[in-house]
Amino acid sequence: MDIPSGADDLKSARLVEGSTVKEFAEKLGIKPKDVVTLLLQRGVFATINQPLNDDIAVDLGKRFGFDVSFVPFEEMVAEQEFEDLIAADADDVELPRAPVVTVMGHVDHGKTSLLDAIRTTEVAAGEAGGITQHIGAYSVQVPLPDKPGEVRRVVFLDTPGHEAFTLMRARGAKATDVVVLVVAADDGVMPQTIEAIEHSRAAGVPIVVAINKIDKPDANPERVRQELSNQGLVPVEWGGDTEMVQVSAKKRENLDSLLETILLTSDILELKASPTRLASGVVLEAKLDRGRGSVATVLVQQGTLRVGDPFIVGQISGKVRAMFNDRGELITEAGPATPVEVLGLQGVPQAGEAFQVVADISKAQQISHHRQMLSRQSQLAQSTKRGIEALGQTEVKELLVVIKADVQGSVEVLKSTLQKLSTERVKVKVVRSGVGAITESDVLLASATQAGNSQTAVVIIGFNVRPETRAADLAKHEGVDIRLHSIIYKVEEEIRAAMIGMLEAIEKERILGKADVREVFRVPKIGAVAGCMVVDGVIRRNARARLIRDGIVTWEGGIASVRRFKEDVGEVREGFECGIGLEGFNDIKVSDQIEAYIVEKIAATEL
Ligand code: GDP
Ligand code: MG
Repeated sequence: MDIPSGADDLKSARLVEGSTVKEFAEKLGIKPKDVVTLLLQRGVFATINQPLNDDIAVDLGKRFGFDVSFVPFEEMVAEQEFEDLIAADADDVELPRAPVVTVMGHVDHGKTSLLDAIRTTEVAAGEAGGITQHIGAYSVQVPLPDKPGEVRRVVFLDTPGHEAFTLMRARGAKATDVVVLVVAADDGVMPQTIEAIEHSRAAGVPIVVAINKIDKPDANPERVRQELSNQGLVPVEWGGDTEMVQVSAKKRENLDSLLETILLTSDILELKASPTRLASGVVLEAKLDRGRGSVATVLVQQGTLRVGDPFIVGQISGKVRAMFNDRGELITEAGPATPVEVLGLQGVPQAGEAFQVVADISKAQQISHHRQMLSRQSQLAQSTKRGIEALGQTEVKELLVVIKADVQGSVEVLKSTLQKLSTERVKVKVVRSGVGAITESDVLLASATQAGNSQTAVVIIGFNVRPETRAADLAKHEGVDIRLHSIIYKVEEEIRAAMIGMLEAIEKERILGKADVREVFRVPKIGAVAGCMVVDGVIRRNARARLIRDGIVTWEGGIASVRRFKEDVGEVREGFECGIGLEGFNDIKVSDQIEAYIVEKIAATEL
């Protein structure tokens, strides 16, 4: 059997975002001039140094046998550098690095107190500095009891809580290696404790439990262990694999043992990074400072960041003007797993955005301009859309979605992913979202929102969850669509397909052919018949027609008859003579032109 040639035969071509016509042509091994010409045919005027629109690039790529995809600039920089290192046989060694820790737990269980206690113990231990400045993260030197005089570093992110953690994750950043879960010994496992466990699990980050407030008279650490076991966190001393340390943030008790446990847990992860590469990392927080301009706290994750390094972060580029460590001291370089305050940005980035040092500042600026332009365009599109809606001129369709997932982290990610799919014509609106199985109440809500509105459709997405039996029955009865998934991009694909399905078919005109009128016959009972020569395409009976006189459309209607040698025929092709009768129209003149066309209904294939 022959394998059909098609999409499978396409060679893949990876282009960096914002590639110009020239770069596109070079990658595909074609002439830039040819690309410019093809673009012109599509009504796009572009010079070879202009960036190419993604959709057009993909489309053009196919014509040359390529499956074109766009890769984020940061990814390309890292890949290229890695390839260069291998090619140069450079000694790029990954060395052990310090772990990065996030503290989570229920409100009032002592997260802030614990972070403060760990930090001030450190300061009190006589390390350089004194009063530490708040920069969103800090390093702690942990003395090793079995190796006197030696210390190891642990980095704490100073933004306790799972919101910050999830926000980072939603932006694709992974900043945390170990989670310290704080549980108050007098209060036990509470809702946010469970949420924190879910978030850590979803991110695949190991948990060290700090059973806090053991100084309190009503502290009951055994009960906490029991409750955590019920959540699947079984203490090591009970044969499980979760380390639990009893501490008192208030009395500063047992903090060294907590730090030691964090180190032991992180040792298993064998955390490594190369200090020699171009630095990259993640923005922990950023603000506009009156005196200093834009200031970002960056966690360097790979490579060494140096003063003077050009970098890009989201839409913003810049050059490191100055750097401060977590003690507020001016520094000139920062290796892996170091939080630093960076000055010299051309704007304020968002927490969770990737930070990448680049070798070529001009390339970074080009990408940054490109991203800014895209963002302006989408803002403009948003405001235009709002304007049109206000006028009530478009009928915007709405796809209403109920999201149920196994953990809150997935709910958040799905929610933002799906909402972002919204276009001018179809909007995705999440009407309910939550953790747990699909219930009857979910189905009822969906069915009620759907009822009797032709502009909306509704779907329930179950992500790693199933409907309860009664909910499934009800859904069948009410005709509510439930879709079960376990991969986010599959959900995205399905929702996009559903959105396309909601779009109305587009009516599109297709020109069939043209005929020049050379003679006009008057036929009794029939009227005027145009003696024509078909000069292009085909003229077909029952097609629509336009009569063009001196370049002006003077009539539109149907083609009543097409004849050859007095015989009625269905159609006549280019290069043949024929007689054409127009429906209810007799005022035909020599040298008129008849254009035949049909109107096709095309189902939408893209958003
Ligand atoms: P967070 O909401 O988790 O950040 O909790 P906080 O650190 O703000 O602490 C909440 C309350 O618990 C405060 O009044 C703290 O003084 C108190 N607290 C924190 N840790 C301890 C502890 O180890 N022992 C006692 N007795 N109180 C504590
Ligand atoms: Mg707090």
